Amino acid sequence: MGYTYDTNNIFAKILRGEIPNKTVLETEHSLAFHDIAPQAPVHVLVIPKGPYVCLDHFAQEASDAEIIDYTRAIGKVCEMTGVQPSQGGQGFRAIANTGEAGVQEVPHLHTHILGGRILGRMVSRAAE
Ligand code: 5GP
Repeated sequence: MGYTYDTNNIFAKILRGEIPNKTVLETEHSLAFHDIAPQAPVHVLVIPKGPYVCLDHFAQEASDAEIIDYTRAIGKVCEMTGVQPSQGGQGFRAIANTGEAGVQEVPHLHTHILGGRILGRMVSRAAE
């Protein structure tokens, strides 16, 4: 089946500069910005600039340079937001919701970096 990328999704519009964002970090292949509705004191979204729907799409089709850049951007955001345990931070959770079961709202790969408070269970039991 494969993935079809929707060029009108909200993060594509952010990448084109059509919608403002609070940028945390921009690299050659990635952009990180604050979530518009933060769920924790630290809530940053890291997205690749390329047209990838979700994590498995990116993992299978992105170039090595894009994958390295994206992974390093996530690491840099963790450093910049002070959540790294190795630097005295409290820790964080990285989430890439995917598809229907993952309850993904925006069909452009994004990794949520959440921290600044104890985040509770990894998966809510509410939907079981
Ligand atoms: P998902 O449920 O797809 O994993 O998460 C989408 C996230 O994007 C949500 O946390 C939501 O608050 C965030 N979001 C949706 N629209 C915008 C926007 O226009 N700007 C920013 N910065 N975040 C957005």
